[in-house]
Amino acid sequence: MTSKNTNEPLSKGYRENDTKPTGSSKRFEGSYLGDNSQLSNQTKMECKICWHVYNPELGDDYWQVEPNTPFRDLPPEWSCPVCDGAKDQFMVIQD
Ligand SMILES: [Zn+2]
Repeated sequence: MTSKNTNEPLSKGYRENDTKPTGSSKRFEGSYLGDNSQLSNQTKMECKICWHVYNPELGDDYWQVEPNTPFRDLPPEWSCPVCDGAKDQFMVIQD
């Protein structure tokens, strides 16, 4: 499917700051960080810890989430069914 950058050469340059760069909004390759405004109903989300993909068309068996449930409509306590990562650890898959 999509190509994943497992080692990102860019991140090296930001090490000095310790915090992520501000201002360069779109640069941060679709990190979700709780910002529902960048999600559409069909947006697939990928866990950045274990790469589990939440597909809204399929829902989530583990949490008994019905098919066609947008990511932003998942319950607040929802977490990654594979690694238990928090919702805001998911990244938008842009494709
Ligand atoms: Zn995960």
